[in-house]
Formats: sequence, structure tokens, C-alpha cells
Amino acid sequence: MRLTEVAQHWLAEIIEQGDAVVDATLGNGADALFLAQQIGKDGVLFGFDVQQQAMDSSQALLAGEPCQQHLLLAGHETMKAHIPRQFHGNIKAIMFNLGWLPNSDKSIITHADTTITALEQSLELLAPDGRMTVMVYPGHQGGDSEAKHVIKWLSVICQPPLFNLNKIVLPNHPTAPILLQVTKLKV
Ligand code: SAH
Repeated sequence: MRLTEVAQHWLAEIIEQGDAVVDATLGNGADALFLAQQIGKDGVLFGFDVQQQAMDSSQALLAGEPCQQHLLLAGHETMKAHIPRQFHGNIKAIMFNLGWLPNSDKSIITHADTTITALEQSLELLAPDGRMTVMVYPGHQGGDSEAKHVIKWLSVICQPPLFNLNKIVLPNHPTAPILLQVTKLKV
């Protein structure tokens, strides 16, 4: 199973029809489509990306999905300001897939400082029992330092009793993607 599938599998375990969810890095829209299928017609999907290309491909992919869709051409570090208050503390799942968009401008990548701002907001937005997945790419140029910062930050912040952190690191593959999972615990 690819790590992107593992991330989806982890979220499929907890998402229910009608939930509100966030794709923090739309990219080509594959994760957004997965989320839309999980939440169904009564669900609400928020999606963020800074590239018009990502908006266009995601919109095309999501065209047949009946859920409420809010795709925003905006950095995920602004998600708290863009997501209406009634959803704060009610978001069931959030996905981050960092790095660059395959087959496009490799100079447009996610950066540790804005990523961590977005992660911080995500932890607030999540519902009790909500879950976030974060895929980091130490093999991308610029990705190594982002991966280190993100993993360190999550390891410090995401501890019981408030959070639970899991991570998959492939042994002997220093440049392979690393997948992290944060679950917000009910307290
Ligand atoms: N690395 C993955 C794909 C990641 S796509 C893979 O190899 O499959 C990452 C997406 O994040 C890109 O579409 C990029 O435009 C977007 N992005 C970059 N900075 C962002 C930001 N601040 N907020 C939201 N999206 C951002």
C-alpha cells in the first residue's frame, strides 16, 4: 500500500457522512476527491492551495460530488480566517500533502514556517476525535529542512492527554516520504 493510501485509510476509519473536512494542500485534487466521497451529500469540504492550476484540476475532479465545496486560492496558513466560526472545533479530518505539485513549477513548495502556522490552526479546528494526516518529503529540494521542522514541532506539541501522534518512516530510505497522523483526544 502506498503511503498516500495509508493516509486515506486512517481517515476513512473515522470520517462519517455529513462531516466537515479540510484538504490543506489540494494539489491535483486526489485527496479532496477521497474526502468528498467519504462525507457524502451532507458533508462540507474546504480546500486550500496557492496555485490556480491546483484549483482547476481539483474543481474538475470534484465536479460530480454532491458535498458542499469551498475551494480557496489561499495559503493554508490563512485557513482559520477562511473557515467560518461554526466549524472551529468541528472539523473531523484534515490532510496535508507537502512539497511541490508533481508535473508543475517546483519552485512553488510548502515552507516550514507557513506549514507550522497552518498545523497550529488545524489542531484548533479539529473536533474531539478528529484526525489529521501530514505527508512530508525529505527527498524534495527544500523538503528536508521542512520535514525536520514539522516532525519536531508535531512531536513536541502532539502529546497526550490532548493528542496522539503516529508516524511511518520507511527504514533505510532517508529520502522517502514520511507520513504522520495526529488524533485529537477527547478530554
Ligand atoms: N508532494 C506531493 C504533492 C504535494 S502538492 C506529491 O509528490 O505527490 C503540494 C501542494 O501544496 C501544491 O499544489 C502547492 O501549490 C501547494 N502549496 C504550496 N504552498 C501552499 C500554502 N501555503 N498553502 C496551501 N497550499 C500550498
